[in-house]
Amino acid sequence: SLRGRQALVTGSTSGIGLGIARALAKAGCNLTLNGFGDAAEIESIRADLAAEAAVEVAYDGADMRRPADIEAMVDGHVERFGGLDILVNNAGIQHVSPVEEFPVDKWDDIIAINLSSSFHTIRAAISGMAERGWGRVINVASAHALVASPFKAAYVAAKHGVAGLTKTVALEYAEKGVTVNAIAPGYVETPLVTGQIADTARARGISEEEVVRDVMLLAQPTRKLITIEQVAAMALYLCSDAAGAVTGTVLSIDGGWTAK
Ligand code: NAD
Repeated sequence: SLRGRQALVTGSTSGIGLGIARALAKAGCNLTLNGFGDAAEIESIRADLAAEAAVEVAYDGADMRRPADIEAMVDGHVERFGGLDILVNNAGIQHVSPVEEFPVDKWDDIIAINLSSSFHTIRAAISGMAERGWGRVINVASAHALVASPFKAAYVAAKHGVAGLTKTVALEYAEKGVTVNAIAPGYVETPLVTGQIADTARARGISEEEVVRDVMLLAQPTRKLITIEQVAAMALYLCSDAAGAVTGTVLSIDGGWTAK
């Protein structure tokens, strides 16, 4: 059980981040949620999580492009809960474009949100973990931390960067009771991805099953989308004492994608 642990999950108003937040709450963690969205919807997510798991849940709308917002979010969490034991860097966006046309502002946003925000949360949070002698940093990377696909220059560069940051910080804190790992999912069934399935099915005039099988899952030997719950279970494992010797790794959960 993680009862009494304090966790912060960036980008947790949707998808994988929300799934990890839910799993941590069920395991007994108090939480700070973060991410964009409709204020009333976010408040109902916050209240539901707190009620269903009987934990305390806060929300901070910090923009992961802004270092000052990020620092204030970490400080606010520590002030409210008395410490930060589990940091999940999950916020992320995507943009698909040939490199010679890649919009400079999209490159900057993706590097800021998908990579630099993890540096900023880590530098604000990790010495507190070391002082208490226990901590977990989990960076949600991607199969694109290990291999590339065309037209995703910023995303692939950022996710490879996350792998490097993960290994480096793991080494710096290896003797302090703090583990630092990355999770590298293939295609996960999030609102983002399932929305693309319906759109692609309409555009190509084929069924959603055919989109999943013939378009999206060519990369993924299992021919199945990964579920949010499967990714959340991996995060929960990394928080366990059984995972105390697991640090500096990039753990794949990709249906065999990167084995090819
Ligand atoms: P999602 O769009 O459902 O969730 C993204 C979250 O990040 C949302 O809560 C959103 O509000 C938040 N966010 C976006 N920009 C932000 C900003 N500037 N500041 C703060 N929050 C911001 O996407 P998802 O599929 O759940 O992706 C979550 C993470 O998992 C990302 O890092 C993504 O790269 C990674 N990932 C996803 C997949 C997949 O197939 N869905 C695969 C591998 C890795």
